[in-house]
Amino acid sequence: MLKNCDECNRVFSHPTRVLCQECYDQALRSYGAVRDYLKANPGATVAEVAKDTDTTVEVIYEYIRQGRLDVVPKDARLYCAICGTSIDKGKVCASCRNDLRNTMTQEASKPEGKSKSSLRVHTAEHIRKQR
Ligand SMILES: [Zn+2]
Ligand SMILES: [Zn+2]
Repeated sequence: MLKNCDECNRVFSHPTRVLCQECYDQALRSYGAVRDYLKANPGATVAEVAKDTDTTVEVIYEYIRQGRLDVVPKDARLYCAICGTSIDKGKVCASCRNDLRNTMTQEASKPEGKSKSSLRVHTAEHIRKQR
């Protein structure tokens, strides 16, 4: 199957990858460089890592979000997208993730027609009392 590389838009063929061979190799090299740099310099900041490994701050945050770095830059901060509390990886904190899960199961188990029919009964009673 032919597709366009996410990075350079060149057409290439691979069943699962979104990057062509060249960009994939480059991404692997960047990741290796960032990881090795942080192992050697555990106190480095995100900006320092980006500069010295020839990557970008965005790329480094992406690694952190994916939990791919054993050592994270000392000033790296991820925040929950919902409540804003600081987190180690991912996009939302553990408690918001729980809330989200609960909300979704509640929505799913709520019988669809029930609230509508009880509303109708209520309205009918209301009308009766009015008369
Ligand atoms: Zn490419
Ligand atoms: Zn949260």
